[in-house]
Amino acid sequence: MIKKLMKYLIKRSTKLKVDSSKLILFDVDQTLIKVFSFHEKALEKTFKENFSVKASYFDVDFEGRRFADVIKEIGKKHNLDLSEEEILKFINDYSQNFEEILPGNIEKYILPGAKELVQELSKKHTLGIITGSTEKVGSEILKRSKLYDYFKVFCFSNEAKNRAEMVAKAIKKAQNYDFSEAIVIGDSTNDITSAQANHLRVISVNTGHHTKEKLLKHHPDLFVKTLEDKKILEFLK
Ligand SMILES: [Mg+2]
Repeated sequence: MIKKLMKYLIKRSTKLKVDSSKLILFDVDQTLIKVFSFHEKALEKTFKENFSVKASYFDVDFEGRRFADVIKEIGKKHNLDLSEEEILKFINDYSQNFEEILPGNIEKYILPGAKELVQELSKKHTLGIITGSTEKVGSEILKRSKLYDYFKVFCFSNEAKNRAEMVAKAIKKAQNYDFSEAIVIGDSTNDITSAQANHLRVISVNTGHHTKEKLLKHHPDLFVKTLEDKKILEFLK
């Protein structure tokens, strides 16, 4: 009887220990790093080269959305009905332009507290990436900022139909890691709603283009001004 109880307690304590580890899914742009000006230049150049129009990300509400969807909608604003083929070519050209425009080392564009937080959390938790960027662009940003190696799971925009699906896919990809709970950290309302669609808790950080009021309307579980806020570590305990 005692032996059995001991066995149960050991099993339980091991499980509790494993359960404290989480899968933490980070957005990239405006959450970990701010390289928006390079995105904007690449967008302007690619639209000009392909369709001779002067386009901007600000033509639409682009935050937290899949790149292909954003391009399609910007095209519409300029009376262009872009075909699948045109979008694929655009994505390819954009990647090339972006890689040329983006400096080789972009560590100085990492947002306040982001590197320290990622370093700290990676000691105990499994970290993942969910980004509206395509694999080529997203990986390049993470590599040139020297953040890439802290992450184990990646879901890029070319892997799913929408952001909620990207979250679900990232969780699926992480199935070999032990975690009791997945949590999303991002700067846009889409980060919040995609987490909620998967019944996950979400931390909203106010370093992007969405206002505090807009973000709070979607009821994130924690709202912080920057990733320097110590409440994040407390929340993820
Ligand atoms: Mg973002």
